[in-house]
Amino acid sequence: MKPKRLESELQDVGTFSHPKQNLEQYATTPALATKVLHLAAVEFGDIEDKSVIDLGVGTGVLAIGAKLMGAGHVLGLDVDVDALSECKENLEMYEPELEVELVLMDVIELIRRYDDYDEEESDESDESDDNNNGDGKRKDYVWPKADTVVTNPPFGTRRKGADVAFLAAAMKMADTAVYSFHKTSTREYIQKVATKKLGAKSAKVVAEMKYGLKNQYGHHRKDEVEVFVDVWRIQPTCKMKRDGNNDEDEIFEQNLRELAANIEELQLSARERKDKHRSKNSNKNEEY
Ligand code: SAH
Repeated sequence: MKPKRLESELQDVGTFSHPKQNLEQYATTPALATKVLHLAAVEFGDIEDKSVIDLGVGTGVLAIGAKLMGAGHVLGLDVDVDALSECKENLEMYEPELEVELVLMDVIELIRRYDDYDEEESDESDESDDNNNGDGKRKDYVWPKADTVVTNPPFGTRRKGADVAFLAAAMKMADTAVYSFHKTSTREYIQKVATKKLGAKSAKVVAEMKYGLKNQYGHHRKDEVEVFVDVWRIQPTCKMKRDGNNDEDEIFEQNLRELAANIEELQLSARERKDKHRSKNSNKNEEY
């Protein structure tokens, strides 16, 4: 699909009707989504017939764009049920309806629990937890996997470290490449984190963009703030090939089946999650 056509197809994708500030919900514009997906598809061959995960799928513009560009299985993950519902509505708008699997997942929480990466400058990093294996992290989580991960992550302005947590999770999930947006002002830092800390085989800025952030929350003094954003293409070190018949593949499929549910089920589990969270916090003072 030509860029002009893709951009026009993405024009009607609804954006967050009630954006949540704490989740840094800013929808990628159709122009920006087109630029990134075209680059990924045409220059690097990372979209067509590839499985794709959109990390922090929001209302779905990147996932939808990937699907329209000929991606195979597309999985959208987000912590916000409202965003997932809006994403579902957007998918239904297409004729025929676009198939994107949507799963409720707190990416930041998962990476904190199950990865061995340490958060630098975190006040909480050396607190202990009863449920871990001694070093503060569990290792027994099987991450969803895809050839390509695309993510317009929270930039970490509301929740410190959210950008790097997303990147770490994206690198766990990608077999071949991660496309991630980061503020240009953090370029050196991201380069260091990706290659040194997260062990990327390569990390390159493949596009630079100007991002007009509309004042949708009221905490910006101006109506629109311009942010310079880099699009990174990162190759994770470990290329785990799934040949369709090994144990990894089975665990992966099973894991996905467990995670996957329809939106109503997701809403139920969100409520349960809240209750659990509340009781966990009343049982102990320590925060993870
Ligand atoms: N991909 C969409 C949305 C980007 S905004 C687009 O490009 O338009 C960032 C998204 O990350 C939001 O949808 C937000 O709900 C989600 N998000 C924020 N924190 C998260 C977390 N801890 N786990 C999963 N998703 C999260």
